[in-house]
Formats: sequence, C-alpha cells, structure tokens
Amino acid sequence: MSGPDAAVTALRTAVYTVPTPQTEGDGTLSWSATTAVTVEVDAGGRTGLGWSYTSASTAALIDEHLAGVARGRDPMDVPGAWEAMVRATRNLGRGGPTSQAIAAVDIALWDLKARLLGLPLTSVFGQARDAVPVYGSGGFTTLSDAELRSQVEGWLTAGCEMVKIKVGQSWGSRPRRDLERTRLVREVVGGDVQVMVDANGGYTVGQARTMGEQYDQLGVTWFEEPVSSDHLDGLAVVRSAVRCDVAAGEYAASVFDARRLCPVLDCLQLDVTRCAGYTEWLRGAALAAAHGLEISGHCAPALHAPVAAAVPNLRHVEWFVDHARLEPLLFEGVPPVRGGRMQLAPGLPGHGMRLRPDAEQYRKS
Ligand SMILES: [Mg+2]
Repeated sequence: MSGPDAAVTALRTAVYTVPTPQTEGDGTLSWSATTAVTVEVDAGGRTGLGWSYTSASTAALIDEHLAGVARGRDPMDVPGAWEAMVRATRNLGRGGPTSQAIAAVDIALWDLKARLLGLPLTSVFGQARDAVPVYGSGGFTTLSDAELRSQVEGWLTAGCEMVKIKVGQSWGSRPRRDLERTRLVREVVGGDVQVMVDANGGYTVGQARTMGEQYDQLGVTWFEEPVSSDHLDGLAVVRSAVRCDVAAGEYAASVFDARRLCPVLDCLQLDVTRCAGYTEWLRGAALAAAHGLEISGHCAPALHAPVAAAVPNLRHVEWFVDHARLEPLLFEGVPPVRGGRMQLAPGLPGHGMRLRPDAEQYRKS
C-alpha cells in the first residue's frame, strides 16, 4: 500500500548528543551538552521525523512501550495513536520522560501524515500566519558580560524585537548580579526591544516580589518562573505584585497541568517536546484561548514552527541558543530566522526537515 491508505510499518529511534561550547547554567541548573532523541516512522514509502530534547533513556522507553503501539496503525489517525500511547504508558506516569517519548512519536506521525498527503504540516494544522515571531533566548548566568553582550547583539542582528536572559543566579543568592546583568542587556538593546527574564524557579515568593519591582523599573516585560511552577499560590502572589507578565508552563505534560496554571499566568508556555507533542500542544493553545491567554512555544524552535503558525493566540516562540545551534547540525530544512521571525518553508511536505547524513558524528546510539 502507498499514500494515505498505508499503515505504519516501522519505527526507529536514535540518540544524538551535541556538547555546548562551555558549561552553561541558569538560576537552578547547569549542563554541558544537549541530547536529542529522534524517531522516524515509515508508511507508504514515506518517512516522518520527530524528536525530543530529553534523556537518552527515553529512546529505550519508546522502543519498549510505544513502537508496538505505532506499528500497524493508520497514519491518518494521529490523535488515535496519541491516545493509545497515553493508555499504554499509564503505569509509567504521564509526565517527564513518558511525555517526552510520546512527543517524539506524535511529532513523527504528524510529519508522516502530512508527507503522505503531500501537504505542508502548517496546511494540515491550518495556517494562521506565514512567519512565526521569535525571541532570542539564552543569557546564561555562566556567561561573562562580554559574552552576554555579544549574544544579545547576535539576536538584534537577526531582527529579534524581544530577548530573554536567565536570572535567579545560584538559587536566588546573587540578586545584585541579576540586576546588573539585566541593566546591561537593557543598555545593549535600547528602549524599543523587550527585555524578558527567566528565574527558573530560583526565587522565594518574597524575593520574587522584591526583584519583580526592580525588573518593573527596568522595563522588563516578562518574568518567567519567578518561583517554582509547582507553587501556584506563589505565582499568583507574585503576579498580583508586579507589572510585568508572569509566565510558566514549560514542564506541563498535559492540558490538565496547563489548566491548573492558566489562572495564575499572563501567558501560557508549552513545549511540544514535553507536553506529548503537537496533539496536546494544540489543545493547550485552545485551553489558553479559553482563559483569554496567549501561548508561547518553549524551546525547540524548529519543531514549534508548524503549530505556532496554526494558532491565532500565539505570542511567540523561544529561539533558545542551544537548540538554535543544534538543530541545523542534526537536521536539514530548519526554518531560518529573518527579521525576528521564523520563515516557514513554502510548499515542502511535512515540517520539511530531515536528519542530516553528517549528524552521525553526534550519534550515541
Ligand atoms: Mg524557562
């Protein structure tokens, strides 16, 4: 069989690890490499590609629990495959690696479906825009001032009208340094570019209120995870005390997680690689709309492009430096950023991306 009537015949996983140029860190974690677990699915002479930024162990989870669910299924029925994967992993827990594993398969299946139909994925989802606004994101606490300045200048050169840096250094123990770095970025970008900060849950509620007041004075527009995103009451307290928008949601694995967060946020963040793929991200966008909120795509810029283009209530997608560097190393067809927007590939079937043959140098298994 070929074309839309084909069944999924094979699923392959692989693990790629790309080292960062130096050890990087935010307020509450440091790392020295980025791992992508990829999934390829075949049907009707076409191959769909998906991936997650996750632990290498997620590949084993996919092989053991999800490959058998995907094989033999109708590739047109991606929500059905998604539901079957969620049911098959009930005893593993819905969040974390399970959700990241389902995401890689779900994204591969959507890509496969669009390729079988010969359509861009944006057309399959319904296209609300032909370019996706991004914000430059990185600004690690581990950078020197010169490195921070140079990174921010790179985003301005790419036309970004919004930039985000990490604060909450050393679990909120360096507040003066946080403010110095934020002031530096404000000075580099001038008055017309939005400055955003992300504390990665590094502050206490009291600290976040005090720091939020200072960020307000610096014209910061976005205060991400001022406190742990598990602390809903704390997020609500901070939100009522500051003028800048409070955002969170990057760890949400489901619409149920997102529903708990929406009442205490000004913008919902969702990550296609952590919320079980395109299927749940689109539902999350609808949920945000029902709360009168916009949605922002967290990290994985190239993967967010097709869904971000499809939802009217999109604010932006995070052009995260680690992923912006990794994606063109591993994949062909990554949408370029020009004028502060990801430019969608016109007319290419699926999301338009393929594994690069020379990505093998980063392959771990
Ligand atoms: Mg964040």
